[in-house]
Amino acid sequence: MSETQTDAPLLPIMIYPESVLRKVARAVQPNDADAVRALVPSMFATMYKAPGIGLAANQINSLLRVIVIDVAPKDEPAPLALINPEIIAKSDELATQEEGCLSIPDLYAEITRPARVKVRYQDLQGVKQEIEAEGLLSACLQHEIDHLNGVLFVDYLSALKRNMLLRKLAKQQKAKG
Ligand code: ZN
Repeated sequence: MSETQTDAPLLPIMIYPESVLRKVARAVQPNDADAVRALVPSMFATMYKAPGIGLAANQINSLLRVIVIDVAPKDEPAPLALINPEIIAKSDELATQEEGCLSIPDLYAEITRPARVKVRYQDLQGVKQEIEAEGLLSACLQHEIDHLNGVLFVDYLSALKRNMLLRKLAKQQKAKG
């Protein structure tokens, strides 16, 4: 079974202010293996369909520490599934990227974070891995790991900017009915 099988069932994406987005996800244990194996292909399918470059389990109403990412161009997919990801080092140097979020649709903001991170995680086989990232992948890893801790990118903005964005979102959602 490929982790990116395209016929995996799509999952509904939780939209702000859904409470699961503010919850801390729990560590995946060995007896969660079947649940995770079922979840990950659906997370990839849901992310690609959206389309997005990252998705955390909270966003599809699961509280397992699982994220999926693919920041590669469309014609050369590079799917990355991280179980129990943990930032073990970050650079003092900062970098700013424009971020958006599938749970906060159509709103974007410049967010400043450490430029480089080192992340430890388990792959789908349960093997410990480490990845060092910079640029878009670094920002994406930090954004998705934040989700597992109930943190959203708008939390990095000033209260003024955040309220402005979230008011815009509320208006959009209302218009959609
Ligand atoms: Zn997000």
